[in-house]
Amino acid sequence: MSARTQPVLVNPADTHNARLVSYVHPPDWQNPAPAPCYNLVVVGAGTAGLVTAAGAAGLGAKVALVEKHLLGGDCLNVGCVPSKAIIRSGRAVFDAKEAGPFGVRVGSPVRVDFPAVMERMRKLRAGLSPHDSAGRFTKLGVDVFLGEARFASPDTVEVAGRTLRFKRAVIATGARAVEPPIPGLLEAGSLTNETVFDLIQCPARLAVIGGGPIGCELAQAFQRLGSQVSLFHKNAHLLDREDMEAAAIVQKAFVREGITVVLNANIIRVERNGTGKLIWCESQGKEASFAVDEILIGTGRAPNVERLNLEAVGVQSDRLKGILVNDCLQTTNPRIYAAGDVCLARKFTHAADFTARIVIQNALFLGRKKLSALTLPWCTYTDPEVAHVGLYEHDARGRGLEVDTYVREFKDVDRAVLDGEEDGFVKFHVQKGRDEILGATIVARHAGEMISEISVAMAARIGLGKLASVVHPYPTQAEALRQCGDAYNRTRLTPAVKKWMGRWLAWQRS
Ligand SMILES: Cc1cc2nc3c(=O)[nH]c(=O)nc-3n(C[C@H](O)[C@H](O)[C@H](O)COP(=O)(O)OP(=O)(O)OC[C@H]3O[C@@H](n4cnc5c(N)ncnc54)[C@H](O)[C@@H]3O)c2cc1C
Repeated sequence: MSARTQPVLVNPADTHNARLVSYVHPPDWQNPAPAPCYNLVVVGAGTAGLVTAAGAAGLGAKVALVEKHLLGGDCLNVGCVPSKAIIRSGRAVFDAKEAGPFGVRVGSPVRVDFPAVMERMRKLRAGLSPHDSAGRFTKLGVDVFLGEARFASPDTVEVAGRTLRFKRAVIATGARAVEPPIPGLLEAGSLTNETVFDLIQCPARLAVIGGGPIGCELAQAFQRLGSQVSLFHKNAHLLDREDMEAAAIVQKAFVREGITVVLNANIIRVERNGTGKLIWCESQGKEASFAVDEILIGTGRAPNVERLNLEAVGVQSDRLKGILVNDCLQTTNPRIYAAGDVCLARKFTHAADFTARIVIQNALFLGRKKLSALTLPWCTYTDPEVAHVGLYEHDARGRGLEVDTYVREFKDVDRAVLDGEEDGFVKFHVQKGRDEILGATIVARHAGEMISEISVAMAARIGLGKLASVVHPYPTQAEALRQCGDAYNRTRLTPAVKKWMGRWLAWQRS
């Protein structure tokens, strides 16, 4: 017997979104008859769930994958993919506007065709969706169920009237945008990452609430695409979890591009104002109102732990931290694991991917793979980008480690000068007295591409001194990494070594 699933609509209803939906929530999908027992039932088909299901099935496990909305989860549908597509369009606008100093004359004003920008995004998103599709996973041998899952007993999950029995289960239900408790916000209406990519007209005036990675990326993209953006952040610096000097460079770029940055912002209330909205905000002791057309919320992510009936199966969770797991990603019920945003402090697609890989080994093959063993880089895709791996200086000091810091500014790196991309730096933290990289930050237009070299070095325990002996092509911005290595090696030239070398060279001359 098979059961039809509820259709899903993604706005706007055009051919690209119809194609997307046909892959990630096919309107005519019929859930299969469940197997008598699964090695693994995976709840949620975002990156964490998809990687778990594909990996486990590839190793011969009988797997059920349950998704209540769109396969691909946030990353494909309302996260990384659409955001990076519009960020790229924004960069094209910026480059056209800033072409003058490069000797390139572009007609003024540079015009943005916002509907075309969004259509490009929808087309690319639909084009990437077959990889996450129900059809592809079925071909991989996974039983795909569309519908909302909840635990019914310690070894069963219910979905769309079906009961799935499991030996092991994985909770990969992700996270959602937190709506801040601002009086009047609900009545005035706002956008989140779940609705902002549905837009087909550019809001003339856009308020972005939240100056973390998502808020900053989208604020800059919309400013470049034609909105007048006001960015409200409750703390004294944007991107305040990042290296302060890195965040300051991004903040300076935002102000230069015309974004109104309101720091230490305490939003008192929001009102409707004709067809727009009025934001009342107190900052540095002064109250002011801001008239905008749309409000975009980027104030953090809440793990999806509700409605799963977790109490009934002994899985403990926390409203902020999500599903509580040990270092092997096992929940308080040893047969149930978790992966991705629902259990991680660092909510990234690559973190979801690699926690899924840990879960496959630990849940199915008695593995003891540990979350703490991962070297996890991340990147905020502003312009310039801010990429980081390992410890920040204050983290290292908090752990009682003494740190030496090596910095190379891009104004001193030939390729960055030639590219006109001098605002930024590479910063390494090395444990004092040992050639061990503890952490690093890069601020550069393509910092996200450069950070992996440092991740490799850290994962392979290659020191900063050794990086100096790796030949980097000239001229590249990545030479800054080697130059930090050179700086490190110069500190090894102690007076004693220098004296010995002088004597050797003098003897050679004699
Ligand atoms: C605007 C934005 C931009 C981002 N950009 C980046 C980026 O550039 N790089 C990066 O690394 N990360 C980025 N992220 C974060 C990234 O999207 C997430 O870390 C990633 O999607 C997490 O994957 P996941 O599988 O844990 O969760 P999700 O992708 O959220 O998937 C969870 C899935 O579970 C389903 N589900 C929930 N409850 C149930 C239930 N009861 N039954 C069945 N199904 C259920 C949901 O419908 C969803 O499909 C971005 C996020 C946003 C919002």
